This record gives sequence, C-alpha cells and structure tokens, in this order.
Amino acid sequence: MARLILKRGEDARLRAGHPWIYRSQIADLKGFSRAGEAVEVLDAAGHYLGQGFYNPRPSLCCRLLTRRDEAVDAEFFQRRLEAAWDYRRTARLISDAYRLCWSEADGLPGLVVDRYGPVSVVQCLTLGMWEASAWIEAAIGRLFPGGGLHRQDEATAARLEGFVPRQDPAGPELVVAEDGCRFGVTPGGGHKTGLYLDQAENRALVARHAAGRRMLDAFCFSGGFACHALKAGASHAVLLDSSPDALGLARRNLELNGVAERAELREGNAFDLLRELEAAGERFGVVVLDPPPFTRRKDSIGAAARGYKEINIRALRLLEPGGVLATFSCSHHITPGTFEDICRDAAGDAGVQARLLHTLSQRRDHPVLLTIPESRYLTGLLLERAS
Ligand code: SAH
Repeated sequence: MARLILKRGEDARLRAGHPWIYRSQIADLKGFSRAGEAVEVLDAAGHYLGQGFYNPRPSLCCRLLTRRDEAVDAEFFQRRLEAAWDYRRTARLISDAYRLCWSEADGLPGLVVDRYGPVSVVQCLTLGMWEASAWIEAAIGRLFPGGGLHRQDEATAARLEGFVPRQDPAGPELVVAEDGCRFGVTPGGGHKTGLYLDQAENRALVARHAAGRRMLDAFCFSGGFACHALKAGASHAVLLDSSPDALGLARRNLELNGVAERAELREGNAFDLLRELEAAGERFGVVVLDPPPFTRRKDSIGAAARGYKEINIRALRLLEPGGVLATFSCSHHITPGTFEDICRDAAGDAGVQARLLHTLSQRRDHPVLLTIPESRYLTGLLLERAS
C-alpha cells in the first residue's frame, strides 16, 4: 500500500481527532499509483496514524477513514454503515425520512446517505468514495434488503475531485411522514437529497408556537415550516422563495397536508419581499428565516454577517409583540457565537427586545463530532419579541 508521510509537526491535528490532511502538510508519498486509492498515513518519525483515500487534485487531499490497521474493503463499509444505523436506532432517529450517514461525523468522510421510506439516496463527495461505491451500495443493500437506491453525487464536489458525478434520473415521487405532516420527495428532482432533513426538529418546535397566529416562512424551499405551522393551527402563512421550482414543491406539500387554502406563495428575493411586507405594515406571530449559506469562505464572513443582520432586522420588525422568530444560518464559517452576535446587533438596530427561548442546531441524524467543528453547520435561535 502507498505511504503518505507528513512533515514534522503536521500530525497534531490528526492526533487531536480531526481527519483532514492538506497537500501542504505532506513531506513524501511512496508507492502511490492511482488517484483515489487508500494510502497509509505516517508521521515524520514513521509512526502509523491511519489510512485514508488520497487524491492529489484538491488541496484537501486525504481524510482519515480509520486509525486502525484494518483493510478498507467491503466489510469495512458494512461495519461503518451498520454503526451509523445503530447510533440512529438507539437515539430513536429512525423514521420515514432521516440521514443515515453524515460524512466525517459517521467515520465515512465524503459519503452522505439519506433514507426516504424504502429508498436510500447516496451522495459521493470524494473520488475515493466514488470508486468505493460498489462496496457502499452492496452494504446498503444488505442493511435494507429490497429497498431502492438512488445515486445523487454532487456536481461541485465532483469537479473539485475530478470524477463524473452519477446522478440517476428523477425517480417517482415518494410521500414521507414527518411528525404528522406529509411531504413529497422526488429523489433526483430537487435541492439537497429531497427534503431538508436537518430542520425536522426545528419545524416541530416552531409549530408549537403557531396556533392561531399568522406565520411567515421566508426562504421556504418545499414549505416544511409552513406546513407544520398550518397543521398546528396557524391562521395563515406567507411563503417566500426566489425559486419557482421550490414554490412548486411547497404548493404540492401544502396540498398534501390539506392546508393550501390558508397559504399564500410569493416568488422573489426575500431581501426585497421582507422590506415590502414591512412597508405594507404586515405583522406576524411566527417568522422563520432559513436562508441558504451566505458564505462558503472564511474571508467573506463580513459580507455574510451584513446579509444575516439585514434580514434579521426586518424579521424582528415584522413580529407582533409576543411573536417568535426562528432564525438560522447554515454557513459553516458562522459559528453559533458569531450568529448570536449578529442577531444581537440586529435586535439593537431594530429597537426590539427579544427573549432567547432556545438555541437551535441540526437534528442528531446529522451528528456533530466535538473534534470536527466542520460537522456542525446549522445554527439558529428561537427568539420571542418582548417589546
Ligand atoms: N426552510 C427550508 C429550507 C430552505 S433552503 C426547509 O425547511 O425545507 C433555502 C431556500 O432559499 C432555497 O429554496 C432557495 O431557493 C431560497 N433562496 C435562496 N436565495 C434566496 C433569496 N435571495 N430570496 C428568497 N429565497 C432565496
């Protein structure tokens, strides 16, 4: 097996429990023959640290798969996926729709698997995982005999890693249940793998505040927050999104849940629409702000923070007294502390006192590993307008 030898001192992060190796950390590579193959990783003194798939193309060129001296083969993937399933079973996270495998956080960097009813939606994000996909598919087939499998590799990751993404044609619509709501999911037919599973618990939490109130679901995608709120007795919901496709999914989900007649869909830029709602004197008892990541890079945190602050000022002003705002960031580089600071600034500028009811994160089927901060990306606050 090829051997990757780190420069002196470059083993500290790996020893602290993080799996990433950048090209600049490598002193030597011996016996390497093929991009994507598994290599042994050694420190400068020749001590064994583990194994990972190596790809010379991206600067993040290797992520440890194991720290043991074990074969990375079909059985390895079987064991890891079984462990991922066991964790979720014990934590009572198995339902109609859940994430089975969350990359690094499940010991399988570069692999994401979501389950929708009997169908597993598989995303390979590294060349190594893409090449191991026959083993992965076999392991999933053994875990869920008779279930369907849909490949939905990510195009951006594929470009970076240098492989041709496998994207199976859109399958038939599946209808999955989530806490009393029903959602249509078409693997291969939309954003993410079909439904924003990471927000499931937050949708249920927001619904608990919705009875009898008007709600605003900004950046609604397939309308999950609005469906839950309306089902829980919200009097009316306004759903905003810039994507007509997203609004089409939202309309379908509102109909599936029998709440479409209490909902209003508006297409456009949420920054403008929020301003228009405020100018029109509209007020809501519940507001959800769940925008896409405003930054994917550390050096543009400033611009992203200004964007978050602006929409939060507007959302806080749209709240009636006693109303609640569920506000989120899914930018990896915006930490919970930074996000809280942004919202504090927004409340100050909006002239609104807000009680902090809950800090929010991704559901535990997207586990966060303490030693891998990148495994946490979703952060949020549930705020109540006090005055
Ligand atoms: N809350 C949703 C997920 C939101 S994903 C859920 O629970 O399922 C983010 C959404 O924001 C996407 O649907 C995207 O189309 C939309 N979006 C991106 N930029 C936007 C903008 N400037 N204005 C309005 N919507 C936007």
